[in-house]
Amino acid sequence: MNEGATIAGSDVLVVVDVQNDFCPGGALSVPRGNEVVPIINRLAARFRHVVLTQDWHPRGHLSFASSHSGKKPYDSIAADSGPQILWPDHCVQDSPGAQFHPALHVPHAALVLRKGTDPTIDSYSTFYENDRSTPTGLVGYLRERGLSRVFLAGLAFDFCVRYSAEDAQREGFAVFVVEDACRGIDLDGSVAATRASLATLGVACISTLAAA
Ligand SMILES: [Zn+2]
Repeated sequence: MNEGATIAGSDVLVVVDVQNDFCPGGALSVPRGNEVVPIINRLAARFRHVVLTQDWHPRGHLSFASSHSGKKPYDSIAADSGPQILWPDHCVQDSPGAQFHPALHVPHAALVLRKGTDPTIDSYSTFYENDRSTPTGLVGYLRERGLSRVFLAGLAFDFCVRYSAEDAQREGFAVFVVEDACRGIDLDGSVAATRASLATLGVACISTLAAA
């Protein structure tokens, strides 16, 4: 880990959405998404505190193109919470695609947080739904556990990791995105936009590779 990011007891690793549907062969495959699995397994072993998140949608979710007649995946609609990209059906509650990648091995993770469960709103961030005001409860959990630095890894860099990092920063946590433990979808330049946004906000993008 880079200088300044030595892992302490008040640090938490939040592993975002390492689920079958976001890996190659899944319904909403992130290119090379599976590559993060061994990296995250090694990284997580160095943290006392780990949270795993799962995208966890009911059937007919607002974010699914199939829920809107005449729309196809990657079209956009105006939702109450703002512009909504429409996705292929993915991470349907209790479906095989919603399960964690089978090689993800983080047995000491103390919390599995599920998001996107409200049929009427999407939730990229692990902290807030896409109205940016309805909490998932993760801020409260981290505060109550005395965890003050949030390290983020997982899928996808330019959506759920990005929004989680921005919200964590806004909540006053010190935030580190472990970029080599993430993979992006890169829709219309969204990876570059994510890097620019995180840099503007002062969120550190770091690498696991600097760690001996
Ligand atoms: Zn989703």
